[in-house]
Amino acid sequence: MTPYDDSDTKTLKGDHSTPVETHGDPRPTRSEAEAAVELLLRWAGDDPTREGLVGTPGRVARAWQEFCVGYTEDPASLLSSTFEEVEGYDDMVMLRNIRLESHCEHHMVPILGVAHIAYMPDRRVVGISKLARVLDSFARRLQTQETLTAQVAECIQSELRPRGVALLIDAQHQCCTSCLCKSSGQVVAPSWRMGKLCT
Ligand SMILES: [Zn+2]
Repeated sequence: MTPYDDSDTKTLKGDHSTPVETHGDPRPTRSEAEAAVELLLRWAGDDPTREGLVGTPGRVARAWQEFCVGYTEDPASLLSSTFEEVEGYDDMVMLRNIRLESHCEHHMVPILGVAHIAYMPDRRVVGISKLARVLDSFARRLQTQETLTAQVAECIQSELRPRGVALLIDAQHQCCTSCLCKSSGQVVAPSWRMGKLCT
């Protein structure tokens, strides 16, 4: 049995799974991840054996499997099924207020907000819900807002080859709204634009 046989692995989402990047090391097992959470609880000063915390390591491991399910997905494949031959279709496609849930790579705390995605098709149009799925797939990894913005825009650009793409993320970083860093919480990432949406 490999570490990938952990009982909950089958609940991972995504029809286009790619192996998790492990950097040459075997992926830790679920029980090793739970032991790490238990260690963190003790380091924080609490007692993992008290009633309220008994199931916490397992719950945290399952939660992080969902928070980071994007590592098992290939977002580009979500855009592989397109509607071709949209001759004369030159309107901008825009999806606004897509709910965004991610985690910052510096503190592993939530980034919550909304994203707005727009592109100007050039022959290839994709089902609009796929744009939200691409965002979610990149968001379910440890991220910075700037990296997330660029990754989503570049994925759309490389897969759909539109005449232009633009992306804006408006989010709050919990590390910035708490005492973890000293800036204000609302972060509007530099918008990412190219092609005909540059102006
Ligand atoms: Zn942070």
